[in-house]
Amino acid sequence: MDFKFSEEQKKFRQEVRDFLEEELRQGLWQPSCDAWIMGHDPEFTKRVAQKGWIGLTWPKEYGGQGRSFVDRLILTEEMLRYGAPAACHWFADRQIGGAIVHYGTEEQRRELLPKIIRGEAYVGLGMSEPEAGSDLASLQMRAVEDGDDYIIDGQKTWTSGGSHMNWIYMVARTDSTVAKHRGISEFIMDATLPGITVRPIVDITGGVHFNEVFFDGVRVPKNCLIGEKNSGWKQVLNQLDYERSGMERLMANYPLFEALIQYTKETKRNGKPLAEDPVVRSKLAQLKIELEVGRLHMYRVALVMDAGRAPNWESSMTKPYGTAFEQRLASTAMEILGLYGQLSPESKWVPVQGMAYHSYLSSKGYSLQAGTSEILKNILALRKLELPTQ
Ligand SMILES: Cc1cc2nc3c(=O)[nH]c(=O)nc-3n(C[C@H](O)[C@H](O)[C@H](O)COP(=O)(O)OP(=O)(O)OC[C@H]3O[C@@H](n4cnc5c(N)ncnc54)[C@H](O)[C@@H]3O)c2cc1C
Repeated sequence: MDFKFSEEQKKFRQEVRDFLEEELRQGLWQPSCDAWIMGHDPEFTKRVAQKGWIGLTWPKEYGGQGRSFVDRLILTEEMLRYGAPAACHWFADRQIGGAIVHYGTEEQRRELLPKIIRGEAYVGLGMSEPEAGSDLASLQMRAVEDGDDYIIDGQKTWTSGGSHMNWIYMVARTDSTVAKHRGISEFIMDATLPGITVRPIVDITGGVHFNEVFFDGVRVPKNCLIGEKNSGWKQVLNQLDYERSGMERLMANYPLFEALIQYTKETKRNGKPLAEDPVVRSKLAQLKIELEVGRLHMYRVALVMDAGRAPNWESSMTKPYGTAFEQRLASTAMEILGLYGQLSPESKWVPVQGMAYHSYLSSKGYSLQAGTSEILKNILALRKLELPTQ
């Protein structure tokens, strides 16, 4: 393992930073926590696309850059560090484009990948259902063949960015006569088709970033199927490894960390800067240790991907680690800020732009989304420790 960056990679990181600094200088957006999943800004996505930074790892023949996963990690790490509003393209860039490269038809690759790369296709992830979360294989949404089409009925829930998506990736049951894992298929379709209804859900922060999505007799041509019919489960598992292992599982609320450090330097308590308080210093230093360990985990995952393997047990290790760190960061912020930390962003007394309030509430979901920590530890126990199935 070699964690040294090449000269090209150092230059690339600087290029990304320069781009983001210039965006900030122009006041095009404000850094925020969770910007990778909640910061929907089509114009930002278009500017990122113009830089050629969407689909960085995809084959050049489809418009990608054929670059490494470490390069992509450098890019996403900087996006997260700056709290840049990258939600419009994040899911497609992270996992759906890759799934189409691996399992899609040539027609799907030629149609969809360029749209994503140009920053025009914003893809939502329709996996979870009201009765199928951790046990996703028990999903009830049905896709029934009808001539050259499928007719889709059912409901998805917690679909992040559902109100902004113009494409939806989703999994549905295509055979209910076989064991539940064997009758599932993956689809991708225009999210504005007749019969699709999106209903926002208010989350714990008061925001409306995730949604219920209802499918009522939605007719789609068979070329919306990704990969083989009834082989969806294997494909989903592969995709989830990519979903779970990115830097967003460690740095979603990174802007809070920097703001907190700055706050302790500027704020006096009992006549002295907070930054001189040994307890505060120790807490911040502890977070820094945990952050740096987490970064090494994430770079290791990128090296695994560059070696051509899905990080199937590594992602089950990095995500619980990363999200536990993020929750500790939010809790530490609350401890350091005291009661002011609980103020919502609208309050004139709110410190660190309300990021502590947001992260404290929002980070509860980090260890649920994309697979809960309990489930991931079960997977790790099975896949790496080779413990028996429960
Ligand atoms: C912020 C956020 C964004 C999301 N975005 C999306 C999205 O875009 N698309 C999408 O499809 N889904 C999304 N989800 C849904 C997410 O994938 C599910 O919440 C998750 O898979 C857990 O499912 P559940 O909520 O039904 O909980 P359940 O599966 O009901 O689990 C409840 C609790 O029981 C525990 N548990 C369940 N089974 C076991 C077991 N076998 N062993 C031990 N413990 C167990 C879980 O760990 C959890 O603590 C999002 C969720 C959140 C919080």
